[in-house]
Amino acid sequence: MHEEHPFREITLQDLERLDPVTLRTVRSCANCGRCGGACLARIRDLSPARVLRLLQLGRLDEVLTSRFLWSCIGCRRCSRCCPQELDVATAVVRLRRLAARHPRATFPEYLLRYVTR
Ligand code: SF4
Ligand code: SF4
Repeated sequence: MHEEHPFREITLQDLERLDPVTLRTVRSCANCGRCGGACLARIRDLSPARVLRLLQLGRLDEVLTSRFLWSCIGCRRCSRCCPQELDVATAVVRLRRLAARHPRATFPEYLLRYVTR
């Protein structure tokens, strides 16, 4: 019998249970793009603005397999520049909880050393 992909069960509604901050940010983002321009993350396969847009479109998989999530340095420039006063920085960091469970997680090598000890 074909084994079900375990990650298919996770939906945007799960964010509400796991993390109300992220869900509120996704729902309230007006897609102005400012946080994307302000971001200092070194790896930019996505940006905070793009993350939020993809989540609005239900494209959770693309977000959770991005390298950007692990590249966020927590500078909070995204949150400070948001005209909606959304806590974008917290949302980005909390998405890592889901990303770490993804079968195609792009967990950085240097962090892997710590979690496998
Ligand atoms: S907190 Fe993270 S996502 Fe926000 S601007 Fe800084 S590096 Fe980018
Ligand atoms: S700055 Fe705020 S409203 Fe604009 S894209 Fe980022 S989260 Fe959305």
